[in-house]
Amino acid sequence: MGKVYLVGAGPGAPDLLTLRAARLLEKADIVFYDALVHTDTVALAVNAKKVAVGKRVGKISTDQRFINRSLVEAASKYETVVRLKGGDPMIFGRAQEEIDALKEADIAFEVVPGVTAALAASASLGISLTRRGVARTVSFATPRIGPNEIESDWLTTAAAADSTILYMAAGQAPQIAAALMRAGKTASTPVAIVENASLENEQRIFTTLAGLTASALKLAGPAVLCVGDVFAAEPIADASVEHQSRMRQTYASRCLAG
Ligand code: SAH
Repeated sequence: MGKVYLVGAGPGAPDLLTLRAARLLEKADIVFYDALVHTDTVALAVNAKKVAVGKRVGKISTDQRFINRSLVEAASKYETVVRLKGGDPMIFGRAQEEIDALKEADIAFEVVPGVTAALAASASLGISLTRRGVARTVSFATPRIGPNEIESDWLTTAAAADSTILYMAAGQAPQIAAALMRAGKTASTPVAIVENASLENEQRIFTTLAGLTASALKLAGPAVLCVGDVFAAEPIADASVEHQSRMRQTYASRCLAG
């Protein structure tokens, strides 16, 4: 019996891969990879049979069952089976379905984390999701609810967090912005949209919730909507940072005087 590794490929740029992931790819006998994974990353699996398992919208449940079955079968034939997923496997990556199938079949597995899209977007923007004095809570949410899934309370949580990163949301951006405003966010709440985070064709757009309801986004690649005060296009004046630096100066001059 082989072992199955659920590996995070990171947000796009192939060099945002962990060393552990790179070593496993080198060792892999077979790799099942998602549509969003960069070809250079898949190419690291020099000795492996490579199987694309990109999901087609609307056929998700059938495909997921097929992937689960394929992983179980592969583990009986190969020593090192890699399931390569975009970003982090555990964030909106359907990892649990695969883990459950592997557990049920009594197959050893391990999860290797990856850089999730929200963190790649934060890095590209040069904006901390937990900027001191401004944001103390972060939520990763998606408004997307699949068929036969229970209703989600994503809106309450997304509206309450200081920094909210919305996955799989760009297609419905105007409706989402309107919903967030109905849930209590002000119209002037800053929004940053990052498309293709970490890749050469990355795009960053700064707007507000009100601006988002009025504009039709034309995005071809995957994108996250980042909502919250930290995402203003112009850096916000940080009162607490100024205060701290004044305190340090006072302290320094006191020390010198003493
Ligand atoms: N497991 C992945 C998320 C998969 S869901 C992760 O951890 O990142 C797919 C959604 O992820 C897309 O709809 C988009 O919202 C987001 N996404 C994935 N890659 C992205 C990228 N390079 N830039 C911006 N958003 C991305």
